[in-house]
Amino acid sequence: MLKQLSIASLFFSASALAAVEPPILIQGAMDIETKVLIDALDNPKEVTKGSWTFWEGEMAGYPVVVSRTEIGLANAAAATTLAVEMYQPLAIINQGTAGGHDPALFRGDIVVGETSFNMGAYKVEYTEKGKGIHPEKWQHFDVVMRLRENGELVNHAYFAADPALLEHTLAQRDRYKHGNVVKGVIGTADEWNRELDRINWFHNTLGTSVEEMETSAAALVAEAYKVPFVSIRILSNTDQHQQDFDPATATNCQHFVIDVVTALIKKQQE
Ligand code: SAH
Repeated sequence: MLKQLSIASLFFSASALAAVEPPILIQGAMDIETKVLIDALDNPKEVTKGSWTFWEGEMAGYPVVVSRTEIGLANAAAATTLAVEMYQPLAIINQGTAGGHDPALFRGDIVVGETSFNMGAYKVEYTEKGKGIHPEKWQHFDVVMRLRENGELVNHAYFAADPALLEHTLAQRDRYKHGNVVKGVIGTADEWNRELDRINWFHNTLGTSVEEMETSAAALVAEAYKVPFVSIRILSNTDQHQQDFDPATATNCQHFVIDVVTALIKKQQE
C-alpha cells in the first residue's frame, strides 16, 4: 500500500513538472469584445461550461485563455470563478467597452482601472409614503467578503488593480493611436445611465471615470483568489459629448490589449 502511494505521488510530481505555465486570462463580455482576441490566438480550443465559453490558445508562444463572460455582474463573477478554478491564471485582464462619466474623456480614450467598485449597491434611509424617490441621497454600499485565512469579514469600498499590471499597462500607452490612455475609476452596475445629472453625480460624488457592467464583479473574484487583476476599458460612448456607442472602439481596445499582453509575455520570458 505504502509503495503504491509513493509510486502514485511520483507519477503526480512528474505530470506536475510537465504541466504548462499558468495562462493569462483575458475577458470580454460580448462577441464584439472578444472576436479580435480569439482570432489572435494560436491553436485555439473552445471549451464551454454552463453558458460561458473559453478559448484556450497561445499568444507569442505563451498560454492565453480568452473568456466571453457575457453581460453584467452575475455573469462576470460566474465566468471569472470558473476560469480561476479551471486555469489558475497568472493574471486576469478584463477589457471592453464603457460609457464616459469624466467630461475630460472622449470616445476612443482608454481608462485603465486603478480601482473599480459596485456602483449599483446602495443603502437607502427610511422615507415616509408620499415623500418620493431620491437617488442622489442613496449611499454607496460596500461589498463584504470573507478572508480565506481566518474567516474574518472585510468591507471593500472598491477593488484595486494589481500595481505592477497597472503600471505595465500604462507603460504601453504610446502604442495606442486612437485616443489617450489614462488611469481611472471604473463604476460597475447592471445599469446603463444616460441622465447627465446622474452621470455627473456619480463622477462628482464617487469619482467615476467610466461606467460599465462587469469589472468590479471580476475584480471581486480575483481578490478572493489573490490573482493579479487589471481592467482596461475603452469609452465606446459618452453622453458628456453626445458621442453614441461605436462598436469599432471594441476592436481598438482588443488591439491595445494584445499589445499589453504581448509585452507582458516578453517580460515573462526574459
Ligand atoms: N450595445 C449593446 C448593449 C450593450 S450592453 C446592444 O444594444 O446590444 C452593455 C455592455 O456594454 C456591457 O457589457 C457594458 O460593460 C458595456 N457598456 C458600454 N457602455 C456602457 C454604458 N454607458 N453603461 C453601461 N455599460 C456599458
